[in-house]
Amino acid sequence: MAAGSARVPVIAGNWKMHKTQAETREFFAAFLPLVAGAKHCEIVVAPPFTALAAAVEAARDSAVMIGAQDLYWEPQGAFTGEVSAGMLVESGCRAVIVGHSERREHFGETDDIVARKTRATLDAGLRPIVCVGETLREREEGKMEEVLERQFHGAFGALTAQAFSPILVAYEPVWAIGTGRTATPQLAAEAHGFLRSLAASRFGHEAAARLRILYGGSVKPANIRGLMAMEEIDGALVGGASLEAMSFAELVNYREG
Ligand code: PEP
Repeated sequence: MAAGSARVPVIAGNWKMHKTQAETREFFAAFLPLVAGAKHCEIVVAPPFTALAAAVEAARDSAVMIGAQDLYWEPQGAFTGEVSAGMLVESGCRAVIVGHSERREHFGETDDIVARKTRATLDAGLRPIVCVGETLREREEGKMEEVLERQFHGAFGALTAQAFSPILVAYEPVWAIGTGRTATPQLAAEAHGFLRSLAASRFGHEAAARLRILYGGSVKPANIRGLMAMEEIDGALVGGASLEAMSFAELVNYREG
């Protein structure tokens, strides 16, 4: 992100189905001292549900925000296996990843489900990190903008500008997630610019200028600086490289290199 922009960068880690409670405590013991001086960005870590309490406890006296990787939109009821926004609030979570491409692909999440989950996250006072992004096939067929537009309006179409304002959008081209194949900073910035234009037409220019858009897809210490140098890129959502304290701290400390 260019110097002088008012948007505070966010570096967020998505642990997916990795780490026990003991491994979570071990991670934070190593990670927190490495990022204690990082004041330039917000830091989010999203462990699996079973390690949330351990993460909240371990990060208690730090600036690290703990997030969940998913939620269910109903407050309670006969929904075996699901976890509500209220339960996440009680466990000390402050953010939730919504609509990750793995949930869309493996668990059949539709744009309507993403919209419901986004609404439930907002209603609970949690910060949604809503993921959008095209598959390789869609990109090759020239459908990137069409897909992003459908996902953007599907998730946010029913919101007011005020309700939309806490949302972080993560642009995660599916072809770049866990593949080692990162979008170039230019490609990512182009997609971010398009998403910002969608936000401007739906919620107005001010809301669009404030919107923070994270890039996700094989972000590593070796490529973060190039990405973060782009005015349009306001942070990163990181899978693999967030699992190691050293590499995630290097990402958080991208300004020092
Ligand atoms: C992700 O899980 O959102 C992600 C971007 O994964 P990775 O960094 O491993 O590509």
